[in-house]
Amino acid sequence: MDAALELRDLRKSYGDVQALDGVDLTVPAGSFFGLLGPNGAGKTTLIKILVGLVRKTGGDARVFGHDVETDYREARDRIGLAPQEFNVDQFFPIREVLEHKAGYHGVPLDQARDRADEVLKRVGIYDKRDTRFDWLSGGMKRRFVLARALITEPDLLILDEPTAGVDVQLRHELWETIVDLNQRGTTILLTTHYIEEAERLCDEVAILDSGRVLDVASPEELMRRG
Ligand code: ATP
Repeated sequence: MDAALELRDLRKSYGDVQALDGVDLTVPAGSFFGLLGPNGAGKTTLIKILVGLVRKTGGDARVFGHDVETDYREARDRIGLAPQEFNVDQFFPIREVLEHKAGYHGVPLDQARDRADEVLKRVGIYDKRDTRFDWLSGGMKRRFVLARALITEPDLLILDEPTAGVDVQLRHELWETIVDLNQRGTTILLTTHYIEEAERLCDEVAILDSGRVLDVASPEELMRRG
């Protein structure tokens, strides 16, 4: 079976800045994988390459065997992304935003509504379905971004710091939702600054620093090594 993610000597430079400096990484299908690293390590750049927002300057990246550039559509359709920034249509009711997104990915309208309702229930904001995005609280916005990532029923869910700036209770609720998705077979790639978050959730963690993978191990192993 193909790995969910396979990176070989992946490189990206922005002018003089070497954001990714030869990353080799394999994320097994079905795993809960963490990407841990300080600010500027290259985590967001790596994710943007996977979803076609940034062009790599070298190496290879495959999603379930599909090259992210030459097989862009196939690779992209397997991924659901909950990004760090909220890049959402502010002015439409959130259920409509989800229906549009599903439609864009080829889901017929009647099914799109059912799916939108289902993911809104899953993340616990179904009662806000007719509200505009910019009228949601910060925590609800986080939940919505997760719902939007789920609308295409992705095989690889990428979460870029999904619990940054949320309170403890919401953090635990989001964790529960994500763990449940992983147990149903979705591969998860999660970036975080919090070692506790990685320890709590991940089977395996890669440490990224200055565009390189320094280590790949289970969280227990990393804690043991200090
Ligand atoms: P954070 O944890 O702060 O989100 P990160 O690990 O996601 O950091 P990146 O955002 O990938 O790191 O940035 C890696 C490096 O690439 C940084 O030095 C950053 O300044 C640089 N960089 C990122 N995007 C651009 C860009 N569009 N133009 C120029 N440099 C960039």
